[in-house]
Amino acid sequence: MNMSSRITQNVNQACLVLQQGGIVGIPTETVYGLAAVALNAEAVSRVYQAKGRPPSHPLIIHLSPSDNINRWGVLNESAQALANALWPGPLTLLVPRTRLVPDWVTGARDTVALRIPAHDLTIALLDAVSDALVAPSANRFGHVSPTSAEHVINDLGDSVDLVLDGGSCAIGIESTIVECTSSTLQILRPGKVSALDVAEITGLSISDMDGPSRAPGMLIAHYAPNARVELCASIGEAKARHDTYVIKGVATEILHYEDDTIYALSLYDDLRSADLRGSSVVLAVLPPDTGLGIAIRDRLSKAAASN
Ligand code: AMP
Ligand code: MG
Repeated sequence: MNMSSRITQNVNQACLVLQQGGIVGIPTETVYGLAAVALNAEAVSRVYQAKGRPPSHPLIIHLSPSDNINRWGVLNESAQALANALWPGPLTLLVPRTRLVPDWVTGARDTVALRIPAHDLTIALLDAVSDALVAPSANRFGHVSPTSAEHVINDLGDSVDLVLDGGSCAIGIESTIVECTSSTLQILRPGKVSALDVAEITGLSISDMDGPSRAPGMLIAHYAPNARVELCASIGEAKARHDTYVIKGVATEILHYEDDTIYALSLYDDLRSADLRGSSVVLAVLPPDTGLGIAIRDRLSKAAASN
């Protein structure tokens, strides 16, 4: 099948593929996911294979707003408050699992990661399938996440059965993961929902990420293009380094946006484009360490750690 025949806007076609045990790229407001029916062990194992993802890295379950969350996880008061305030939205809750959740989704952990994504096409798909979907980011393991249907095909090629095209992702970086398994909350992955948002909604102070992350798969190196990513503290530093590289004949580009919303939106597409242009080095200017800037810095640091 050629690339265009595997991209569709037809929810019923995507639904049929999933119900038959296929794997489908799905749009969300964060990044594109690679979906399979969560209760279908074989389909979920195809997701791991297509990504080249180690089986020890558990998957986020995506639910429709019309599903009953309590079938999947046990939400304490804080988790419930966050779900009420922010779902559908870019927030994943890590909570104790119910018996319905299979080991092949959680890597046999006693917790499950749950999210209701804010994307009309994907909510329509979840309702049509009438089953929960696992959906890790639809990229090869360790590579840059996809923010368009074309990115998914470019990364996964023939191993994905279909991609549901919902346009470019509105946010552009992965969901915030909040661990809600005890009376203290922890941010396991920063995203658009900030620690401040979480603290305001729950009335709890949020512990900083400390020590090795309790979320397997939060590796030091991740989100990496082929080009080497170098972090710069300011645009001035980036320009100076750029000049030095140009003199040496090294194909180099600067990645920088003043506005963090636009930075997040553009980040992964720009890293992919740098590879397509054959650049050897991307000089990424770090945004301020607040709000969405925290999440962008996290992704850039991991991309740079892959060098
Ligand atoms: P992604 O590939 O962006 O979907 O990342 C999903 C991440 O969520 C994983 O790498 C884990 O860090 C985290 N996660 C998902 N399920 C669990 C779980 N049951 N326990 C701990 N972390 C989880
Ligand atoms: Mg990922």
